[in-house]
Amino acid sequence: MNKLEHIGIAVKNLDASEQLFKLLLDTEPYKRETVESEGVATSFFLVGNVKIELLAATREDSAIAKFIEKRGEGIHHLAFDVDSAEERMEALRKAGFEWINAAPKDGADNKRIAFLHPKSTNGVLTEICQDKT
Ligand code: ZN
Repeated sequence: MNKLEHIGIAVKNLDASEQLFKLLLDTEPYKRETVESEGVATSFFLVGNVKIELLAATREDSAIAKFIEKRGEGIHHLAFDVDSAEERMEALRKAGFEWINAAPKDGADNKRIAFLHPKSTNGVLTEICQDKT
């Protein structure tokens, strides 16, 4: 893993949380993006060289809606930057880690992403992300 790329935070109301994080972080969000395939709307802040990704559900059956229903709002995942998502997936699979995704998929913020199963990672939902270039 190259670095912690972003921290994903599940929120109920993207507009309200965007206002809150603007005040908290003293900076404007640099991007809003909806990933319809995932049923998620996102807002991104940059703090130093780590991003904060606010995640709100766009439909009731999305993973974020289910997460909030079960655990409430809060930290949803950590995302680490990698050079090659395929190589990292393969290496970690060999090391015994379990993946939620069989292969990298398109994520927000121009990334290819994949999630490790939190069962494999002490309960921390962990994402790897690779810049699409
Ligand atoms: Zn993420």
